[in-house]
Amino acid sequence: MKCYMAFLAHETNSFSPIPTDRSSFEEAGIYRPALGPPGEHLSLLKGVADFYAEAQRRNDEAVVGLCAIAQPSLPCLKRDYEALRDEILDGLRAAMPVDMVLLMLHGSMMAQGCDDCEGDVLARVRAIVGSDVPVGVLLDLHCNITPGMVANATAIKACKEYPHTDFAERAQELYAIIAATAQKKIEPVMRFVRVPMLGLFQTTREPMRSFVDGLLAREKEPGVLSITLAHGFPWSDFSGAGAGVLAITDRDEPKARELAESIGRQFFALREAAQVPLRGIDAAIDEALGVASGSVVIADMSDNPGGGAPSDSTFMLRALLERRVRNVVVGLVWDPVAVRIAFSAGEGARIPMRIGGKLGPASGDPLDVEATVLHLRTDAAQPHIADGYPVELGRTAVVEFEGIAVVLNEIRQQPFHPGAFTAAGIDPWQRRIIVVKSSFHFYAGFAERAAAIIYCDAPGALNNDVARRPYRRLKRPIWPLDDVTM
Ligand SMILES: [Zn+2]
Repeated sequence: MKCYMAFLAHETNSFSPIPTDRSSFEEAGIYRPALGPPGEHLSLLKGVADFYAEAQRRNDEAVVGLCAIAQPSLPCLKRDYEALRDEILDGLRAAMPVDMVLLMLHGSMMAQGCDDCEGDVLARVRAIVGSDVPVGVLLDLHCNITPGMVANATAIKACKEYPHTDFAERAQELYAIIAATAQKKIEPVMRFVRVPMLGLFQTTREPMRSFVDGLLAREKEPGVLSITLAHGFPWSDFSGAGAGVLAITDRDEPKARELAESIGRQFFALREAAQVPLRGIDAAIDEALGVASGSVVIADMSDNPGGGAPSDSTFMLRALLERRVRNVVVGLVWDPVAVRIAFSAGEGARIPMRIGGKLGPASGDPLDVEATVLHLRTDAAQPHIADGYPVELGRTAVVEFEGIAVVLNEIRQQPFHPGAFTAAGIDPWQRRIIVVKSSFHFYAGFAERAAAIIYCDAPGALNNDVARRPYRRLKRPIWPLDDVTM
């Protein structure tokens, strides 16, 4: 069978201070067929690498089109979104006729003038392939699923784990559904139910762990092809934002509807219990200092670039300095100007530096310090959370002042793994407190060795106070803003 595959992903934060254009995608690296065989560029394929591996295993013909991802930020410039979209569509037209289409999309991508990029891409793909060719879509679970997506896809799945460690399994399952559909062995029926709530739901802890395990078990029931829990992306300000459940059965519409509705109600009932307990800055530091030995990880969730935050906020840094807390490392702080100055000064130099606080009020004020440049690296990378392929950090500089080391870098991203610190030249486990600018993806790499993990709700772009976000187009009522039942 011949399968067309492509990848376009952006998690759009309507309140981010950072614009999104073509260069935002180029920073992470774009795969195009002109680069050469996809098998030689697997790190650029991201999620499509799993589709590609499955096609190889099955001896299917894989035609890989554009694969592009950018860090979360504001809605993409219209012309740049349309150019990337059209590259995917042109690749599909050139590959026709195909037996199946598999797309990796994020599920919460917005562009200027287009609130639902995935729905837009899928409508155009459907218009090219017609109604008979199955189209499968793999999403991040932080997706806002829309009627436009459901109407034009044959089967939609999202990853089930947060941190997202299961894309490979979900890609294989989706491939199997779409291939069986192309071979007329099954006829997927998809039903979606919106769940009116906004939140972050960590699946490594209860009650979500048991809930996700329950879904995995129910997917094995006869006639059930897939159950997807869409957690929603709470920082996308449009009517489609929010959670949902999408069930797929083989030719059984009542069962798909019943599954989506009942699981949607069960998910909604967990909304309070599934939220992680958060600490303010001082309480987080107190708790960390109270741990007798080992390294404590504090997650500065509000400044997670993986959700559209700038990753240069200084609220936690300033508090650590003011409280004279020593033996700390903080990373990754996105500050290309400070990196450049550290490189000009050289390793070992002691210089006045202005760190962070550059992107706006959500970043706080810049911090002026006398810092020693400890380590400079031009080749630092960390393993990607989903596929383990190296992700470049750009140039990195580790600087230290008053017992606090800061890892500064040039390519905005969250630390997925302690390797992000060691690649920059500093062993985080030698420090009493490790502050990571990440909401939860860090967990996969840090949990095993951390003496404790503390989730901090500092001021910042991703602060948890939903009521203070300036939503204008969100569909109400929705929890936790409104008193709502389901
Ligand atoms: Zn996600």
